[in-house]
Amino acid sequence: MANPMADEMRRFKGSDEKNPFEAMSERFDRAAQTLGLDADLYAVMRVPSREIKVYIPVRMDTGHLQVFEGYRVQHNFARGPAKGGIRYAPDVSLDEVKALSAWMTWKCAVVNVPFGGGKGGIICNPEQMSLGELERMTRRYTAELIDFIGPDKDVPAPDMNTNEQTMAWIMDTYSMHARHTVTAVVTGKPVALGGSLGRREATGRGVLFCVNEAIKRYKLTPEQTSVVVQGSGNVGGIGAQLMHEQGYKVIAISDVGGGIHNPAGLDIPAVLDYLQKNRTLEDFPKAERISNKDLLEIECDVLAPCATENQITSENADRIKCKILAEGANGPTTPKADKILHDKGIFVIPDILANAGGVTVSYFEWVQDRMGYFWQESQVNARLEEKMVASFNELCHYATKHEVDTRTAAYMLAIDRVAYDTRMRGIYA
Ligand code: NAD
Repeated sequence: MANPMADEMRRFKGSDEKNPFEAMSERFDRAAQTLGLDADLYAVMRVPSREIKVYIPVRMDTGHLQVFEGYRVQHNFARGPAKGGIRYAPDVSLDEVKALSAWMTWKCAVVNVPFGGGKGGIICNPEQMSLGELERMTRRYTAELIDFIGPDKDVPAPDMNTNEQTMAWIMDTYSMHARHTVTAVVTGKPVALGGSLGRREATGRGVLFCVNEAIKRYKLTPEQTSVVVQGSGNVGGIGAQLMHEQGYKVIAISDVGGGIHNPAGLDIPAVLDYLQKNRTLEDFPKAERISNKDLLEIECDVLAPCATENQITSENADRIKCKILAEGANGPTTPKADKILHDKGIFVIPDILANAGGVTVSYFEWVQDRMGYFWQESQVNARLEEKMVASFNELCHYATKHEVDTRTAAYMLAIDRVAYDTRMRGIYA
């Protein structure tokens, strides 16, 4: 009898270490096998529900028409509407969007918010486009997807190179077609248009809450804990700032151009201020320059890769010297590196938990939009902390109970929840 699980696993054997869909599939397969997931559920859950490809004509400022290729992948709806960002970049690919949409399914399940996973992207170079071109592209992309998105169907959010303004355009375009204002169609909106207080800081704050829990395992206080952060954007910059405020000693931080290091600790507000003014960390006083590659290998208590994918691979995992790895970015560690880190005894806070603060507050935003009643920032932060701490402890408990590493536990916990709901609903086949 055909065994789809074994066939699929063979397909991914000897795969490309840095392909995000293969990285996701490898972890999914390992977790599904450990769980003993039945073949029907396996077949349904490892593939997306829907992949949409759209061609988007845009009138450029020159007067010419350019057609862009865009995607929206809706991975799973078992627990609620699809949820996930939209990215604009020249190297967007369907494989990447598929992987990211699946990660969203598992991430929402790990923090137990009632969404499935989705992700979107347009192949374009936003740096070379005017604001008007970006607006026209966003509006036409939204119009192409109008039947597939909505508060009960699929709720996009910002991702790489999209922001609050992009979400405002999507909300407005959707609302024009619906003939009334529908704020809950996207999250990550400006606060004045139905956004949530605390959303901008939520992912970095979620990383902080996870790290607060993880250092207890090592009997460390924030003051005794040295932290290295890769990336200084929404996740890394805000995460570093919040950790600094809580007394952590942030000894290194970087952006795409490289990093700075001071073993005595950096003045993070001054660093971020300098970066904003100078658009580079170069020549920041009282710190040494360090490459992004060397930064990852600094001896520290907490390493937080908060920039991009595939930073810790089979090539450098052996030289990573942290106690705790807090994955602020999506997919910063490859599956081959997982095993090396595990053998070294590094405690990993996997991305689908560590950076889930963003989707958690997106969920709060969606709830507030649907209630039409908006919470104070302190309420948002307190509810986020409650969710992140509970999810962290549930994950650790699950890992101990099943005698698996935290990454496998995160996937198992997520798959278990989605499988349970799918089984209860039944497969309409
Ligand atoms: P961002 O654009 O605000 O910041 C990215 C930072 O990484 C910048 O400092 C940039 O200079 C740096 N960077 C980019 N490429 C790099 C490279 N190759 N090497 C080193 N540094 C590099 O992005 P962000 O929103 O902070 O997202 C960072 C990561 O976190 C991404 O993987 C994203 O998918 C993930 N994430 C973000 C959120 C969110 O709410 N923003 C939520 C969940 C996950």
